[in-house]
Amino acid sequence: MRVIGIESTCDETAAAVVEEKLGGVGAEILSNEVMSQIARHAAYGGVVPEIAARAHIEVLDRLIGRALADARTEIGQLDAIAAAAGPGLIGGVLVGLTAGKALALAAKKPFIAVNHIEAHALTARLTEGLGFPYLALIASGGHTQIVAVRGVGDYQRIGATMDDAAGEAFDKVGKMLGLPYPGGPELEALARQGDAQRFDFPRPMIGRPEADFSFSGLKTAARQALLRLGGALSEVDRRDLAASFQAAVVDVVIDRLRVALRIFSKTDERLQGLAIGGGVCANMALREALSRLCGESGLRLAMPPPELCADNGAMIAFAGLERFKLGFVDDLSFAPQPRWPLETAHRPAAAVRKSA
Ligand code: ATP
Ligand code: MG
Ligand code: FE
Repeated sequence: MRVIGIESTCDETAAAVVEEKLGGVGAEILSNEVMSQIARHAAYGGVVPEIAARAHIEVLDRLIGRALADARTEIGQLDAIAAAAGPGLIGGVLVGLTAGKALALAAKKPFIAVNHIEAHALTARLTEGLGFPYLALIASGGHTQIVAVRGVGDYQRIGATMDDAAGEAFDKVGKMLGLPYPGGPELEALARQGDAQRFDFPRPMIGRPEADFSFSGLKTAARQALLRLGGALSEVDRRDLAASFQAAVVDVVIDRLRVALRIFSKTDERLQGLAIGGGVCANMALREALSRLCGESGLRLAMPPPELCADNGAMIAFAGLERFKLGFVDDLSFAPQPRWPLETAHRPAAAVRKSA
């Protein structure tokens, strides 16, 4: 069974073909084309929705063609067409969703609308075949949450950010340090040679009994530290600030996960592991801390490689494949969902609870 997935919710245009692995775990990625628009937005310090939508239009056809060619797949050999229908920037979503529907209509194939966050949450099943139920940490530019994943379409939010997303905090502090958008990867590189102890940043929410997050206070603390240092920042100052900020984010995420695990342990379900997804989960300091957390609690950690934590088409294709196998298909009238809470990611929800 082969499915193509189309992604255009933010500033990556992506298309990929995945195939069900019979008898194996997860799925095989036959092609995975990602085109980042970062260069087009860099001058503005963030993603400009109108530029993003136009850029998706310019490259999507070619990208779909390349994804099919790389996968040595004719349109007729596809079993279904999946596209991200949200959440995200409406203009961009419209481009990928409409392309997916048009392809489905022309090729007379079933169409599947995928929730982008659902796709991040299911990626660990693509790479490692993780069974249900599991906890998923989603940390990206627009979202930060911990979700109990009990089946395809059966998601319960255990905790979420009350203000900024983790990636947003990385990007904003990166900007303060003079780093180009998106700041996350460059801040991580800067932090590598820095002293994480130098600045005593707060760990917002730590110790709280709910598994929620807050990052805006941390961002403010970084700004105040910068002001105290005055105008000219030395390279050492920048490295130390980056390292101290990153360490605070990692501490907060690990503490929140501990609480989420405790909350989940009150149910009578047997947790199969911890999955991660979203661009921030490409961060090596976070990945190492997650390995320690799971090591000490004897929990399986399903960590997709960094390029599959960031936005990509394979995760959309795979979420489409999972849905299709269960018989969930969508109408061509499915509307774009700029806001689309994961719990409502749908529809015949909660029907599937058995472990896969
Ligand atoms: P969403 O998934 O919420 O719709 P998005 O498209 O921004 O939003 P991703 O592409 O999954 O999500 O993640 C991008 C975010 O991840 C950016 O904020 C970026 O700075 C951050 N990020 C990427 N790599 C790293 C890293 N190594 N360390 C920290 N943050 C990172
Ligand atoms: Mg992005
Ligand atoms: Fe994303």
